[in-house]
Amino acid sequence: MVVDPRSPTVTDGLQGARCSDCSVTVYPADDACPRCGGPADRAVLRGTGTLWTWTVQRYAPKSPPYQPPPGGFEPFAVGYVELADDVRVAAVLDLDDHDDIRIGMPLTVTAGHGVPRARPTPPGEERA
Ligand SMILES: [Zn+2]
Repeated sequence: MVVDPRSPTVTDGLQGARCSDCSVTVYPADDACPRCGGPADRAVLRGTGTLWTWTVQRYAPKSPPYQPPPGGFEPFAVGYVELADDVRVAAVLDLDDHDDIRIGMPLTVTAGHGVPRARPTPPGEERA
C-alpha cells in the first residue's frame, strides 16, 4: 500500500517502505532498497506479527535520546517482532510480567513516539 507521507493515517501506523523492484520491505522507511538499491515506496505496515526474539534491558539507555519515566528507570523487555509484512521490527514489549513473554507469541506493534511498542494481539485479531 502506497500512501501520501502527509496523510494523517501515517502517524497511526508503522511507516515502512517497500522496494518497487524486488519487493523487500524495510522499517523504518528508507528511500532506497537495502538489497538492490532500487527506489522504495512508503508503505504503512500492518503491525501484526509474532515475537522473533527478546531480552530485558536492565540498565538505563544513554540519555538523550532515552527519557526515563517519571518514577525513574525500570528494566523493560525489548525484542524483534516478525511482522506479517515480512520484516522484523525492534520494539519495547509492553507486558508487565516478563514471565508471560514467549517467542512466537502474537504481538501488535504501534509506532507512537520514539521506539515502537508491542502489545499482545487480542485473540481473534491474529490474522488481521
Ligand atoms: Zn530492492
